[in-house]
Amino acid sequence: MVIVMAPYAGETALADVVAHVEAAGGEAFVSRGVARTIIGVVGDERVLAGLVVTQLPGVAEAVRITSPYKLVSRENHAGTSTVYVGGVPIGPETVTLIAGPCAVETPEQTLAAAQLAKAAGATLLRGGAYKPRTSPYAFQGLGRAGLRILAEVSAEVGLPAVTEVVDAVDVDDVAEHAAMLQVGARNMQNFTLLQAVGSSGRPVLLKRGLTATYEEWLMAAEYIAQRGNLDIVLCERGIRTYETATRNTLDVAAVPMIRSMSHLPIIVDPSHAAGRRDLVLPLARAGLAAGADGLIVDVHAHPESALVDGAQALVGESLAALAETMHTFPALMGRTLAVPSAAEATVRE
Ligand code: PEP
Ligand code: MN
Repeated sequence: MVIVMAPYAGETALADVVAHVEAAGGEAFVSRGVARTIIGVVGDERVLAGLVVTQLPGVAEAVRITSPYKLVSRENHAGTSTVYVGGVPIGPETVTLIAGPCAVETPEQTLAAAQLAKAAGATLLRGGAYKPRTSPYAFQGLGRAGLRILAEVSAEVGLPAVTEVVDAVDVDDVAEHAAMLQVGARNMQNFTLLQAVGSSGRPVLLKRGLTATYEEWLMAAEYIAQRGNLDIVLCERGIRTYETATRNTLDVAAVPMIRSMSHLPIIVDPSHAAGRRDLVLPLARAGLAAGADGLIVDVHAHPESALVDGAQALVGESLAALAETMHTFPALMGRTLAVPSAAEATVRE
C-alpha cells in the first residue's frame, strides 16, 4: 500500500500515520518528494487488510499496489516523472543528452571530451572516476583524483556531472563532486549500494544489470526509492545474449515495457550496448523512436588512445551525426532537447 499525504500535511500528521501503520504491525517507509510526501507500507496481507488510514488527518489517499515494486510502479503514479539533475530535466517532455568520456583520464582529456559533448547538444557530462572493470589488470579509474577533475571540468564547461559510484563507502564523496550518481550494470543488485545512494540526496542513474529482468531492475529501483529518493532514472544499456558480434544486445522493448510498468524516466546507452562506434547512432535513434527520455553516450577527442572503451567513443563525423540527430529527432517525438531550467536548479540546491 502507498499512502499519499496531502500537500498541507505537516510533520505531526506524518508521524501519526507512521505510528498508526507500525501499531498495526506494518513497516512504513517515508519518501519526501518535492511535490508530495508518500509512505510505502509493507506488511503481510492481514496487516494491510486491517489498515484503515484514509480518515487520518493529512492523508490524501491510500492506494493498494499489487506489483512487487510499489513506490516506482505505474500504479503509484499515473504520469511519467521528471527528474531534475542540476536543473536539467529528464522526463517525458524532453530528450536529454548525457555525454562525455567513459573514464576520466586527465584534466585535458576530460575537458576536450566535455567541450565536444556540449557542442553536440549535451546538457549533462558523463565521466567515470571509479571504473568497475572485468579484468583486475585493466585501468580502474583515477578514484578521488578523477572526481576532482570531473568536478572542475563540470564547472568550467557548465555541465552538471553524472558519475559512477561502485562502493557504498564512497557515496558521500561522489555526491559532493557530482550532480547525479550512477549505479552501473554490475552493481544493479548491490543492495547496500542501492540503499546508500537512496540516502544520498542526489538523483540516481540506475543501469540495468547484464541479465536482469524488468522486474528485478524495478525491484532494485525500489531499494533506492524506499530510502526516500524517488529521483531515479533507469538506463537500458544492453543485455547479455548469445550474440558475440556486438558487446551487448540493446533491448529496445525495455523502453515501452518499463514505461508501462513504472513512472520513472528511462534513457538508453547505445555506446555500452554496441561497443562499436558505427552502431551507436542507429541504436540511439532506435531508443529515441521507442520513446526514451534521453541518451548517455561515450565521447573522446582521441579514441585511439583512450584508456577505456575507445572503440565505442564518438568523435568527428560520428559525433556530428549524433549532434544532427539531437537537433532533428526530439521534435519528431513531440519533445524538445533538454536545457537547464533555472527555477529547478535553485529548488534543488
Ligand atoms: C559506464 O557507463 O561507464 C559503464 C561501466 O556502464 P555499464 O555499467 O552499463 O557497463
Ligand atoms: Mn565504458
